[in-house]
Amino acid sequence: MDKKDFELYIYSLRKMAENNLESNRTYMTDLYNLRAFQYKAGEEMLENPQLKFAMIVLDFANFKSINEFCGRNVGDGLLKCTADALREQMGEHVVLSHFRADIFALVMPFEKEEELVDTVLRIDKRISEYKIPYKVLPAFGICVAESPAMSVSLMRDYATMALNTIKGKFYAKYAFFDEKMRSQMLLNKMIENDIVGALEEEQLHLYIQPKINMNTKEIIGGEALVRWHHPERGVVPPGQFLPVLEKNGLIIDVDIYIWTRVFQFIGKRLSEGKRAVPISINISRSHVFDKTFRKCLVELAQEYRVPTEYVLLELTESGFLENEEVMYDNMKYLRNYGFTLSMDDFGTGYSTMTMLKNQPVDEIKIDRGFIVDIENAKSKSIVRHTIDMLHELDMKIIAEGVEEKTQQDFLLQCGCSSAQGFLYYKPMPVEEFEQLLD
Ligand code: C2E
Ligand code: MG
Ligand code: MG
Repeated sequence: MDKKDFELYIYSLRKMAENNLESNRTYMTDLYNLRAFQYKAGEEMLENPQLKFAMIVLDFANFKSINEFCGRNVGDGLLKCTADALREQMGEHVVLSHFRADIFALVMPFEKEEELVDTVLRIDKRISEYKIPYKVLPAFGICVAESPAMSVSLMRDYATMALNTIKGKFYAKYAFFDEKMRSQMLLNKMIENDIVGALEEEQLHLYIQPKINMNTKEIIGGEALVRWHHPERGVVPPGQFLPVLEKNGLIIDVDIYIWTRVFQFIGKRLSEGKRAVPISINISRSHVFDKTFRKCLVELAQEYRVPTEYVLLELTESGFLENEEVMYDNMKYLRNYGFTLSMDDFGTGYSTMTMLKNQPVDEIKIDRGFIVDIENAKSKSIVRHTIDMLHELDMKIIAEGVEEKTQQDFLLQCGCSSAQGFLYYKPMPVEEFEQLLD
């Protein structure tokens, strides 16, 4: 093929692709669908390397409710109105798309970031003019292309990630993808990649933080806390990796691993006739949806011959919330088996009092947040009255995060004698905890 034929060949290929593209439109709004958009936007960027490009992705936080409360016709009308709002932004090198359902996007050239913000605000204003008896909440995520060759699907991931940071928040309409999000995303990817290996290679370690009686300084128990000794990153704190694992469900494997280590530990000490104290384990709220978790705990107790009164189950307030019926059922079942139920992070949830009234709990852990500023008169009053109330309800109480002697003294005055905090001990490897008990 000579050069001219080749060019002709490429030209006809492109024509074919473009014709194809025209049929790749979303029926309702007549905008490009995702596939056509990726092709067309990628082409615009590559053909105009002198220009800076950005992608804006739009998603409605509450589209489902709009459909439910106002009817599908109104929902469809909103989508058409959004498509019109996008079309009004049409210009040279701009590519528009209706990905699917209530998700739209555009790629556009720009010089200053303000232009992107202006575009967002224009679209938002236009959408707000569509009058329906329901608050419409569009959210916009923006990703600036790093280079003309940046993949459109990566830009979409980044823009979507930015969008998800503000979706449903009344106070923010748009968010740019930034460095912080990128490093967070890389960290999340690393965690997802490495966690399976970490479980297999025993990089996850059981740490225990002693709980003490503040009057006698005697160790009355401990809380099991996971630590990840990453071969390259060193110790990764649970606050960093557990939220990621909560999203992909792997938290369940981590929890079961830690629980098993705890039952093993207690069982071994008891069988050797050594002193054992009750240990709390944390139950992630993901277990609410996992019907096998209560069976798992009962079986662990049997396998390692651990009387259930040696194990306290710590559930966060938010864990109690999500699926109340199932949780309630699970909790009652485990309590019947003799496990003690402890409510972690007490006072930080949405409906603390409702929970207290309805849920079968034995122990309350007063959150560190209240202990930290116990110097504050309001905190003092809250803590004092909370302790009184819990006593009246016949619940056990433990204070979390005691770091100062003044905090200890105040708690003792209020009649709370159990605590866990850096004033006494930090979380330590289980081997160290053993020595401490001995
Ligand atoms: P948590 O259950 O509320 O655990 C108490 C946290 O407070 C621990 O943080 C502990 O190190 C910290 N802490 C205790 N005393 C003090 C103090 O005096 N000062 C300060 N600044 N901090 C104190 P850690 O180990 O980083 O764990 C964070 C959270 O991660 C835990 O909060 C728990 O919700 C979760 N977590 C830890 N291990 C596991 C696990 O194996 N499974 C599950 N599902 N969650 C876990
Ligand atoms: Mg806890
Ligand atoms: Mg806590």
